[in-house]
Amino acid sequence: MRQGVRGAAVDEVLRLIELALTTDDDVLKREALAQAVEMSRSFRVRIPRRLSLMICRKCMTVYRFDGSRVRVRRGRAGLMIVLTCGNCGSVRRIPVKP
Ligand SMILES: [Zn+2]
Repeated sequence: MRQGVRGAAVDEVLRLIELALTTDDDVLKREALAQAVEMSRSFRVRIPRRLSLMICRKCMTVYRFDGSRVRVRRGRAGLMIVLTCGNCGSVRRIPVKP
């Protein structure tokens, strides 16, 4: 009522991501994330940047601090964070605005 269907979708996406971040169950983690991403697509809801940075876009898992690598590189355009997923090995480069 308060926000309409789209607002409800935002709440649900956030709830699913929260669940994925807090559960110890790997299967539940993945399912919750996959559902959150799917919902965000079908309702055109944006996943907040701080949360989307924590999710590997390839295998849809939360980056694990024990398995993933984080490197900071200094390039021509400023600083660049290079994230390597500990699960699928995909590399993601995130530019950091100075
Ligand atoms: Zn991955």
